[in-house]
Amino acid sequence: MSLITRFAPSPTGMLHIGSARTALFNALLARHHNGKFLLRIEDTDKTRSTPEATEAILQAMQWLGLSPDEPPVFQSERAERHVACALELIERGAAFRCYTTPEELDARREAGNAARQASKDETLSDEARASMRAEADALLSPFRSPYRDGQQPPSADAPYTVRLRAPDDGDIILHDEVQGDVRIKAAEIDDLVLLRADSTPTYMLAVVVDDHDMGVNMVFRGDDHLRNTFRQMPIYTAMGWPLPKYGHMPMIHGSDGAKLSKRHGAMSTLAYRDMGYLPEGMLSYLTRLGWSHGDKEVFTWDEAVRLFDVDGVNKAPARLDLDKLSDVNAHFIGESEEDRLVDLATPFLKQLTPLDDALLQRIRMAMPLVKTRAKTLVDLAEAMRFLWDSNADNLNKKARKALREDKLTMLANLREALDGAETWTIEALHGILDEFCAAHSLTLGEIGPSLRAALTGGLPAPDLLPVLTWLGREEVLTRIEHHLPAAVGE
Ligand code: GLU
Repeated sequence: MSLITRFAPSPTGMLHIGSARTALFNALLARHHNGKFLLRIEDTDKTRSTPEATEAILQAMQWLGLSPDEPPVFQSERAERHVACALELIERGAAFRCYTTPEELDARREAGNAARQASKDETLSDEARASMRAEADALLSPFRSPYRDGQQPPSADAPYTVRLRAPDDGDIILHDEVQGDVRIKAAEIDDLVLLRADSTPTYMLAVVVDDHDMGVNMVFRGDDHLRNTFRQMPIYTAMGWPLPKYGHMPMIHGSDGAKLSKRHGAMSTLAYRDMGYLPEGMLSYLTRLGWSHGDKEVFTWDEAVRLFDVDGVNKAPARLDLDKLSDVNAHFIGESEEDRLVDLATPFLKQLTPLDDALLQRIRMAMPLVKTRAKTLVDLAEAMRFLWDSNADNLNKKARKALREDKLTMLANLREALDGAETWTIEALHGILDEFCAAHSLTLGEIGPSLRAALTGGLPAPDLLPVLTWLGREEVLTRIEHHLPAAVGE
């Protein structure tokens, strides 16, 4: 039987990075086993789910290239089926109608808290305190409904919820593919609500019915769901359905080991796109976030599919490290095809300068070298600045020194020599600079800084010769000239 995984986000906000990692691991596992990767939008919480959040989830998944193999299932559209399963569970004797009201449950909780508080009173006898503690424990323990054993309803039309009859005793053992065997006492499980008093299904019921109906046979999700799993397993058993395999992956923490928060970069997945990360950089980094294959740090999609399996998933929480993400991204920028990078960098470039064909042409030429220095598309766009900005009005100290008055005659002569270039190629320009040095008894080290300062005003830029060719003859001569008349005339 082929492996079927799923990603089941609740559309109540952005797709944060932890959820993107869950989606990725499910997609990788399915691909690795030639199985299927499905998507279910868990939009049953009408007050918190929004179409915008659904759209943001779909967009983020599309950006990362995590396409499900079938159209998404919307959980809210399946309520009838969930209700039918709850009724079937009643018929099977595995669920029952419970007439305990929310007020009664609140009162029980309050009484439990009060008893716990009272048991702390040092003036009472040990015996009295122990008995209060026992009373508190009983009241605060998982709820076992008095109606589970056929107690009559308080009135014929009393509202009721449908609850699962939780297993009575023994242990529930989960063979978790990541955590190993995890065991809890059945007594820790409450008679959980399957249908609310208004007949709407709960998440606990819906998730099991949907996973079963979608054929999901591997539930691979964050370990914040571990406890839910113990509550969901009895529903499968009661329906007579085979249990899926389970794997609970550890959470992602911040670089300081604390729970992930905005301070650590817990932003929406699309915010990383807007910060100039490439989808493949993001995917490679996320692949390593809680999974490892030896010391390997960078993965192409195909490599990840080939190597990923559940046994490499770490048990300890992963730590989000934005510097590492940037390094991985730098690798993928370096590997990317130049035309694609121009397209991807265009929105970032447009934030810095209007783009015309001439500038785009320069950007295309510069891309092979400039891309080797950028960690993000934002860096990449910024590293291109010298192509449209001579920075003449904003010279840094080094550039000012290289353009001091005593350098200007040399620069004027050099400009003339460049003006005489027959062709504007690296070789031709190289020849001109060499000849110029020989004729004036100078070295490249003596002319280079002044020429560079005149062209880029101290902005970071690659080697001079390529810079000269990218800017083109006219721009080079104009930029040099800009520094000449005023200074020479002084
Ligand atoms: N909808 C749940 C959530 O977003 C996930 C359910 C699941 O993976 O089983 O936390």
